[in-house]
Amino acid sequence: MGDYVWLDLKTGREFDVPVGAVVKLCDSGQIQVLDDEGREHWIFPQNATNIKPMHPTSVHGVEDMIRLGDLNEAGILRNLLIRYNEHVIYTYTGSILVAVNPYQLLPIYTPDHIRLYTNRKIGEMPPHIFAIADNCYFNMQRNNKDQCCIISGESGAGKTESTKLILQFLAAISGQHSWIEQQVLEATPILEAFGNAKTIRNDNSSRFGKYIDIHFNKRGAIEGAKIEQYLLEKSRVCRQAADERNYHIFYCMLKGMAPEMKAKLGLGLAREYSYLTTGNCTECDGRDDLADYSSILSAMKVLMFSETENLEISKLLAAILHLGNLRFEARTYDNLDACVVVRSPDLMTAASLMEVCTNLGIMSNTVVHGIYGRLFVWIVDKINAAIYRPPTCESSVIRRSIGLLDIFGFENFIVNSFEQLCINFANENLQQFFVRHVFKLEQEEYNLEDINWQHIEFTDNQDALDMIANKPMNIISLIDEESKFPKGTDATMLYKLNSQHKLNTNYFPPKNSYETQFGIQHFAGVLSAKERYLTHRFLLKRSPTLSSQFKRSLEMLMRTLSVCQPFFVRCIKPNEFKKPMVREDLRGTCQRIVSARLGKQDDWQIGKTKIFLKDQHDMQLEIERDKAITDKVILIQKSVRRLKARTNFLRLRSAVVFIQKVWRGYRSRKNYQIMKS
Ligand code: ATP
Ligand code: MG
Repeated sequence: MGDYVWLDLKTGREFDVPVGAVVKLCDSGQIQVLDDEGREHWIFPQNATNIKPMHPTSVHGVEDMIRLGDLNEAGILRNLLIRYNEHVIYTYTGSILVAVNPYQLLPIYTPDHIRLYTNRKIGEMPPHIFAIADNCYFNMQRNNKDQCCIISGESGAGKTESTKLILQFLAAISGQHSWIEQQVLEATPILEAFGNAKTIRNDNSSRFGKYIDIHFNKRGAIEGAKIEQYLLEKSRVCRQAADERNYHIFYCMLKGMAPEMKAKLGLGLAREYSYLTTGNCTECDGRDDLADYSSILSAMKVLMFSETENLEISKLLAAILHLGNLRFEARTYDNLDACVVVRSPDLMTAASLMEVCTNLGIMSNTVVHGIYGRLFVWIVDKINAAIYRPPTCESSVIRRSIGLLDIFGFENFIVNSFEQLCINFANENLQQFFVRHVFKLEQEEYNLEDINWQHIEFTDNQDALDMIANKPMNIISLIDEESKFPKGTDATMLYKLNSQHKLNTNYFPPKNSYETQFGIQHFAGVLSAKERYLTHRFLLKRSPTLSSQFKRSLEMLMRTLSVCQPFFVRCIKPNEFKKPMVREDLRGTCQRIVSARLGKQDDWQIGKTKIFLKDQHDMQLEIERDKAITDKVILIQKSVRRLKARTNFLRLRSAVVFIQKVWRGYRSRKNYQIMKS
């Protein structure tokens, strides 16, 4: 009794790894165990093949998972789970930091913590993001080598927060309290205002990738920084999915701008603009657009944006909103069908703000998101102009840097645009970088040194990378070429892709001649049985040079990373509710209770925050609720609660299995498809 065991429930689901359990009772030939998810099981020892003793290292968990006696998926998962339940969100695997998003402000980032983690070796103190930052800094100085920190994880896992914490730590230990430190820190709220938005996965989701390179002088003080941005999601400017918002800046501006200025720009409330309401959501719980606007303005002051520049930015943002409200009318001129803009106050205001005449011709969404895209690039350039100090002859020799990469994770939507191909291609590159460092280089070194060791199997994704972008006639170059070719169509492009790559095992041609789709096998995504062969739709409507531009900037990034000593932070999202610990899925619970008690959905409906019932059903539920202990509703609630706990646990488990598989170089197949634009 009191012994810890692994219980293999063999449910047959994909992330079906054993769960931890404790033996409660041995009684008349049976043993009763209580698993980590709070469920009791009776086991007959004679057929207890599904129960195994737990290694002592797994009982209370370890700080570095390399030390786990049961170093397998179940061991890693339980280790993270029991730590997370105690609000211990950081765990090492060697020098890789795993961070589970706590979704609450933990008291572990105070100035005292900064002091505690300064100048310490990894492992001397409990795992922490500050320990990674401190080691980057220490290695940079001791080895006189540039460092980089690659922060990865799915949307909402905590990449951006981790990046900010590292920046905060570096600014603190750089210790100058200088203007430049302040400027580097204040770049973040500006970038977030223009490049982050509320999505269903994250209330502050970065819709662009960034690499912040922080430069230090020979005394180890911050002397500047440079920000590289990748692939802003421009389509969001004109369209947002349900429950999502446009970029924060629009809502902040409308809430915070002085009324006189708003009147000058012809601006009203968020709900009046088509571009701010396609997601049917103009507010975001937990964000204060009004307060944020003043923080953005003060950050812009620190980054040397002039009054005139601020006004120009506001004018452009306002013009975009007015353009979104334009209406078009079909007309016929000289037997030609045409489309004209209906004259409206929005048209007049947009034209005057953009200082063009009202004879705008056809304004399409492409023009608008083109404007925003260029504005974003201009803002990043402007920030760089303030924080970047080109190296002088003397400083170029002694200047060292720490780069922080906060990049979008693998993406997989129902309809995937060219952006998804680029994003996933970037992740393929990072995976290759990770595999090279964690497996390839390490094992090469053992061989060189004649070290006796057991080879670790891993799968290299170099072939997929070669097919996408490196080999002659690679996918990106074919797309690029066909986009420039005057007679190029989706069909001709697909024909070329098929003839070139159909024999490649990483390429999946369309199943038949009617389908205009292709698939690519990626190293891994978020895995589930159903999603393993997910279909991606891939719309071709990009400027011909976008792929080559992106490829070039990615090559530069990979070159930069390759000369740095890398650190890896893997962020994990513990649940889909953007909330701390497990809580129940209230909507799901409600749905299950009502369908169990009231049957089919003919007489009731669940809205966003309320359930709509007939009076008699309301009464029925009230009576049942009053029936206390034996009441079935309570039983249902209990089982729902368990079910939910299990779902969240599985989610955490899947994330861990993913990490584990990535460590092993696991490779999953994922299909992309191309569809006519
Ligand atoms: P995306 O890819 O969508 O940009 P992300 O990985 O950058 O996602 P973050 O924006 O960093 O995710 O984190 C999402 C939210 O999770 C944050 O707004 C914050 O509320 C919470 N969070 C993340 N990390 C921490 C942390 N260390 N402490 C407290 N809260 C955190
Ligand atoms: Mg982010």
